[in-house]
Amino acid sequence: MDALTAGTVLILVQFCIALVMAGVFFAAPTDKCTRYWAISGSLIALGVLIAILNNRLPRAFALLSGIGLIMAGLIYQWHGILVFYKKQPPKWGWGIFAAFLLILSVLLYLDATAAQRSILYSVTTLILLALSFQAIWQGQGGSPRTFVQSLVQGAIMLLMISYILKIGIAVIYISQGLPVTTLSTREVIVTYLIPTVGTVLFSIGLLLLYFERTVEENRHLATHDELSKLFNRRAIVAAGERELDLAIRLQRELAIAFIDIDLFKHFNDEFGHDAGDTVITEVSAVLQQACRSIDLVGRYGGEEFLIILPGVDSQGAAQIGQRLVEAMHEYHFLGVHPVTISVGMAIVPQNIECSWAQLLRRADAALYEAKNLGRDRYCV
Ligand code: GH3
Ligand code: MG
Ligand code: MG
Repeated sequence: MDALTAGTVLILVQFCIALVMAGVFFAAPTDKCTRYWAISGSLIALGVLIAILNNRLPRAFALLSGIGLIMAGLIYQWHGILVFYKKQPPKWGWGIFAAFLLILSVLLYLDATAAQRSILYSVTTLILLALSFQAIWQGQGGSPRTFVQSLVQGAIMLLMISYILKIGIAVIYISQGLPVTTLSTREVIVTYLIPTVGTVLFSIGLLLLYFERTVEENRHLATHDELSKLFNRRAIVAAGERELDLAIRLQRELAIAFIDIDLFKHFNDEFGHDAGDTVITEVSAVLQQACRSIDLVGRYGGEEFLIILPGVDSQGAAQIGQRLVEAMHEYHFLGVHPVTISVGMAIVPQNIECSWAQLLRRADAALYEAKNLGRDRYCV
């Protein structure tokens, strides 16, 4: 393979990536990171094209604008990663760009060789890749956890290795006084083919990171309640039905707690709806805190909550009911009168079949009993 073929492949790949990134941006224009990546892909594609058309344009102009656009594209790519992780891109990023253009102008003025200029491109690209790597490393909190995260980090490392080798090749050419137009096949692979593969993997990896997060956010939105941050009704009911099936099949106990905030209407009437919302948020946090990690806590509706307690028998249920009621006494609510709850507990004893609807009805009946007995208590 010769350098021209490999270079053409690189341009085509860059154009395709620019188009794909633009497509993702148009599909979700409110997401700022894809805007950065679409700009990045377009700048790099344009830059590579200008650099290749080198001999048809004034040389200094072609090199400065072509390679300059590629570097600007890399800065946009890195900034897009920062934006993806909800960080502010630093202003000094463009300082790297300005320094690069300045040094390149000086090299062109001094009539530096292609190998000398190649060292400048490679070092600057390495710095920008290292910054992207660091942004991803910090953004995801250390070593990769998913396949996509490994893919992106691997792609950046591959690119970094190829640029280090490229610097090595340029140094050899400079020391031997050869022009870089005589690249061997192995050198073409290092300078064009590996960067092409790395670029494809890196760009597609960034898109996959974006999709991975979008899917995770949607899953969270579909199963969680905005105000309380607990499971929503659909998710807690689904979890409850699954736990009930498991409990019956494995012949172990299960308890559920149905919880209602006492005289909640009065908080709304006296302190306003916002204060009522704050009470719901605080009660949710206290309930979550009072439970074990295997318990599932959800907001059933309005000021009503449902807790699924796997492996809890009638004795355990009484203890937990008491703990929940006391947790409200101990918590200092912001600006409102003491907030109390009533708790209705229902248990599926071992070896006894029971449907989810029956279980819920029994917990509801226990809750009514707690309300009738004067509230601020639990009933099993
Ligand atoms: P009880 O002790 O018998 O449960 O008295 P209560 O006042 O809590 O009874 P009720 O269930 O009739 O009142 C619930 C109130 O909760 C009615 C509704 O206005 C309010 N509410 C429901 N959802 C929300 C919410 O998301 N935010 C706020 N602020 N209020 C809500
Ligand atoms: Mg209610
Ligand atoms: Mg109530």
